[in-house]
Amino acid sequence: MDKLLQTLLDTAGISGYEKEVAQIMKKELKKCSENVFEDNFGNVIAQKGKGKKKIMLAAHMDEIGLLVKHISKEGFLYFIKVGGIDDRILLGQRVIIKSAKGDVKGVIGAKPPHLSKEEDRKNAIKYTDLFIDIGAKDKDEAQKRVSVGDAIVFDCPSFVLNGQLICGKAVDNRVGCYALIKIMEKLSCSATVYAVATVQEEVGLKGARTSSFRIAPDFALALDTTSAGDTPGIKETESSLKLGGGVAITIMEAAGRGVIVSENVRNLCIETAKKHKIKYQIDVLEGGMTDAAMIYMNREGIPTAVLSIPCRYVHAPTAVFDLQDLRSAIDLSIKIIERVIG
Ligand SMILES: [Zn+2]
Repeated sequence: MDKLLQTLLDTAGISGYEKEVAQIMKKELKKCSENVFEDNFGNVIAQKGKGKKKIMLAAHMDEIGLLVKHISKEGFLYFIKVGGIDDRILLGQRVIIKSAKGDVKGVIGAKPPHLSKEEDRKNAIKYTDLFIDIGAKDKDEAQKRVSVGDAIVFDCPSFVLNGQLICGKAVDNRVGCYALIKIMEKLSCSATVYAVATVQEEVGLKGARTSSFRIAPDFALALDTTSAGDTPGIKETESSLKLGGGVAITIMEAAGRGVIVSENVRNLCIETAKKHKIKYQIDVLEGGMTDAAMIYMNREGIPTAVLSIPCRYVHAPTAVFDLQDLRSAIDLSIKIIERVIG
């Protein structure tokens, strides 16, 4: 696997705690941009080229995760969820607590089924009834290693499935961050292009809001992940996106509560893909939004496109995507930007 992609997937950064990812983004973007800085909010902004038109590319750095809420007198950690996490995926997960004193390993535990009543076993255990075991014998010992407010990520290192599919913890949206770097590397242009690695997307598209206000772009493009429908249990009517089917061009998010891509932008994306023979799929989403939802209604309205990489098991501890779709996303982004610049 590409070393940079692997590093991005394995780095920890829940919403509001993106520092480690931001360091990598700054370092990599500096190699291919003229100016890189972090704004007040924590977004990393890289600028390349000088031209009248301003183009903004956005990919969020944050991942879903947990946060320590309470340490019990027995030394177990209780937590809140940060971002959209299904309680059913939590039990038994290995986690890493990002403590000021270093990384601490833990396991999410619950009362075992042998000791539960039959009716309780039919329901998923609520996250409030789960706890993290760090092996501490009591609260004092636990507090020497972790603190209330520490971020928690899943301990799921990335790996390759069958040579072509990549599995990892924070695929949503480090794959977008990776694409952002590759686009900036390859782009040579006569406009001012801003690549923004945004913060706090998973909890309300916040970094996209502040950064797009600052930049006030003429055109924006958000890079993110979307749910593939090519696994058992998903009807074609729910999602027809397939891994390896190409980059997903979004038409509408969250049944209109998210971005509604304008006809001009939609046509631009589709025509560009056709012209350059880049494999694509059309994405109409009933649920889920991206940074684009915030950018496109900033200021007086900003023409905004969304390109996504189809993913299996989005927001689970391990998601899966196809490298071919990542390549299509990078290629199409570059061609779209070149066309917008004219
Ligand atoms: Zn995302």
